Amino acid sequence: MEKIKTIALVAHDNRKPDLGEWVEFNYRTLVRHKLVCTGTTGRLVEEIISQKFERDHIKKEAFEITKLKSGPLGGDQQLGGMIAEGRIDFVIFFWDPMEPHPHDVDVKALLRIAVVYNIPIACNRSTADFMISSHLMKEEYHPVIKDYTEYIHRKI
Ligand code: PGA
Repeated sequence: MEKIKTIALVAHDNRKPDLGEWVEFNYRTLVRHKLVCTGTTGRLVEEIISQKFERDHIKKEAFEITKLKSGPLGGDQQLGGMIAEGRIDFVIFFWDPMEPHPHDVDVKALLRIAVVYNIPIACNRSTADFMISSHLMKEEYHPVIKDYTEYIHRKI
């Protein structure tokens, strides 16, 4: 994990206001990194950051958000694939604990793959606050990944 990190941001609809506030508060830190979002979350994050830039008279320059598909249309799975490929450094995922979703299995898969690859993942604002204020944000960090060699080369 380099000093500039690739941060994934995802929020279910009921949690988008929470994520929006969090992004607004932390946007100066966030824009120093690369952001990847599921589709609708990406639109929201982009809107908030553009407004902040305008208000603070900051030039937009090369700031860009990678927007994947919307979560229920495969965005969570795309993100899971990126984690498996080592392309995501950490995840802020505000999932909704109060409502079932059509893509609950994808949500579970995303949480699982983050654990498989030892990717930091915040599912609420407090954890996200602790993560973004960690001194490790400014340093290189190499998560220890469990050695799966034995599993890969198991007898079949
Ligand atoms: P969305 O997807 O950002 O497109 O709303 C989020 C999700 O439901 O996983």
